[in-house]
Amino acid sequence: MTTALRQQLIDTALALNASGLNQGTSGNLSVRFEGGMLITPASMDYAGLTPDDIVWVDLDGNCKGRHRPSSEWQFHAAIYRHRAEADAILHAHPVNCTVLACLGKGIPAFHYMVAVAGGKDIRCADYATFGTRELSDNVLKALEDRKACLMAHHGMTCFDKGLPGALALAIEVETLAAVYGRILAIGEAEILSDNEMDRVIEKFDSYRKQD
Ligand SMILES: [Zn+2]
Repeated sequence: MTTALRQQLIDTALALNASGLNQGTSGNLSVRFEGGMLITPASMDYAGLTPDDIVWVDLDGNCKGRHRPSSEWQFHAAIYRHRAEADAILHAHPVNCTVLACLGKGIPAFHYMVAVAGGKDIRCADYATFGTRELSDNVLKALEDRKACLMAHHGMTCFDKGLPGALALAIEVETLAAVYGRILAIGEAEILSDNEMDRVIEKFDSYRKQD
C-alpha cells in the first residue's frame, strides 16, 4: 500500500513536469498518509525518484526517510491539519499563475470555471519567505473556502481528494491564469455577477454529488 502510494506520488510528479506546469525541482507534492503525509524530497529531480526516496512527515515535522522533506512541508501540514477534505496537495510555480502572483493579483470571476476552486475567485496569498510559518499562515488564509490559491512572488498551491484531482485542478487554474493574463494585456476583464457565480457553484456542487 505504501509503496503503491509512494509510486503514485512519483508518477503524479512526473506528470506535473510533463504538463509544463513545473520546472525542475521547484514544486512539491504530498498525499495524506497515517497521521501525516508522504511528500517529495527537497531539491531532488523527480525523474530519478524511487518509492524509498519519498519522505513521511507527521503534522509537526517529524520525518521518516533517507532524505529531507520538501522545504514547504509546513504549509502542506497546515492544510492537512485544517482542511479535512484535503488528501493530496500540489505546489508549483506555473508561469501564468506566477505572473499574476508577482503582480499581487488573484483571479476574479472573469470566467465561470473560476468556481472549480470552490468559490467566486481564486485569491493570492500575501508574500512571505518560502518554508516559513508566516507563509503557511498566509496560504491557509487564502485557501479559506477554496481548494486553490496563488502565492505572491511565488506560485500556486491547490489540493483535492486525491493526486489525480489535485493535478487536474492545477492544470485548470494555470489555464485560467493564462487566459486572464492575456485579457489584462489587451483590455479589461468583465467579471460575472455574484448571482451568476452562485448559480455556477450550485451546479458544480450538484454535479459533484452525482459523481
Ligand atoms: Zn515554491
